[in-house]
Amino acid sequence: MATISINGTTKQKARLDIDGFSYIKDRITNEKTYWRCINYSSQNCHSRLHTCIITNNIMKPATELSCKTDGTAIELRKFDEQIVYRALNT
Ligand SMILES: [Zn+2]
Repeated sequence: MATISINGTTKQKARLDIDGFSYIKDRITNEKTYWRCINYSSQNCHSRLHTCIITNNIMKPATELSCKTDGTAIELRKFDEQIVYRALNT
């Protein structure tokens, strides 16, 4: 089951969590939302998936991930991002 959270990241982008992996909203078309792996830039991971814009059901399952992540790593990264964000805005 996928969970979509609006403002799921410190960058105020929607996030989709599925099977322990996180995806960031990339772009939207008339019928689909495109998601890309949260480690897209940090680990050059090209995993993507598509969901239906109406039902939020997965239309195209996630492609293979090349990143290494687990829940702990995600929490640590979020923490780091928040510190950077604060440092930039004070
Ligand atoms: Zn990935």
